Amino acid sequence: MYDLIIIGSGPAGLGAAIYAEQARLNTLVIEKAAMSGGQILLTEAVDNYPGMPGISGMDLGEAFGAHARKLGLEPQREKILSLENISGEIKTIRTKKHEYQAKALILAFGAEHRKLDIPGEDDLSGLGVSYCATCDGAFYKDRIAVVVGGGNVAAEDAVFLSGLCERVYLVHRRDALRADQTLQEKIFACENIEMVWDSVPLEILGQDEVTGLKIRNIKTNEERELTADGVFIAVGIVPNTTLVKDQLKLDENGYICAGEEGVTSAPGVFAAGDIRTKALRQVVTAVSDGANAVASAQKYLWRKDNGND
Ligand code: NAP
Repeated sequence: MYDLIIIGSGPAGLGAAIYAEQARLNTLVIEKAAMSGGQILLTEAVDNYPGMPGISGMDLGEAFGAHARKLGLEPQREKILSLENISGEIKTIRTKKHEYQAKALILAFGAEHRKLDIPGEDDLSGLGVSYCATCDGAFYKDRIAVVVGGGNVAAEDAVFLSGLCERVYLVHRRDALRADQTLQEKIFACENIEMVWDSVPLEILGQDEVTGLKIRNIKTNEERELTADGVFIAVGIVPNTTLVKDQLKLDENGYICAGEEGVTSAPGVFAAGDIRTKALRQVVTAVSDGANAVASAQKYLWRKDNGND
């Protein structure tokens, strides 16, 4: 029986783990991936984490993991099959091989990339369709890539690929980017990035590998094909809340309803990082969510242990 089980070892989960260790809570961290770090592992450079200008996502994830390991916190690497009785006093987590029990839970299992759901996307996935420019960009050296999206990830991907590719098209459905101003400045300074405004992707073209992207301009209704070797999709994230969708209050987009203190609709269950309702999903806010969730869990456990509900 653990005081606290933290699920997920991205910035929120590892931030929580470090604070939980300092609070001397009997804690277990469970992570399904082989490496800790979450979505930052897919990020070329994180330029807004204080004290670490320009650090790569991989290095920052590794630094978080090394800090946790130094405190004796090595995640148990298993895929969770179900979370049971999470509103009860004792919460149960079932994996293929084990059953774990805890008095409190911190849910920090984040979000994953959204799909476009257009023809060719699934069939050509891994054959030119990618959701991770830093992982797959090297395959497109001196070739032509298309990035779809208008947020920070699409902007970072386009800038990263512009350093490798002959040409990069950035296809966005509106006439203004959502990405931070500094990233926009970087994009507009890259001569080999061509903006394709007001355009939605219709179909990823190719038989055995990607040959292009068919798009439609939503203002003129004109359809055209961009010739390309790779299509990088960066159209946002969706929360990984399937495991708890019938047990916790979620918002209309599937995020767990929880404020800064991480308190969810179930007693003793706290949410941290990209998985919860919040205005700004960044590494720095995920880390602070982890710390706040541990403070809330500590208060909850103290009240339980002192018979003070
Ligand atoms: P995002 O900010 O939600 O942007 C998604 C983009 O994709 C938007 O421009 C959106 O268009 C477009 N889009 C959505 N669905 C689409 C569709 N079906 N077809 C075409 N375009 C579509 O997502 P993100 O860039 O992946 O970033 C995810 C989160 O991570 C954000 O909160 C971001 O701030 C955060 N992030 C943080 C850091 C950091 O901490 N350093 C770095 C990168 C990202 P509209 O603009 O028209 O809605």
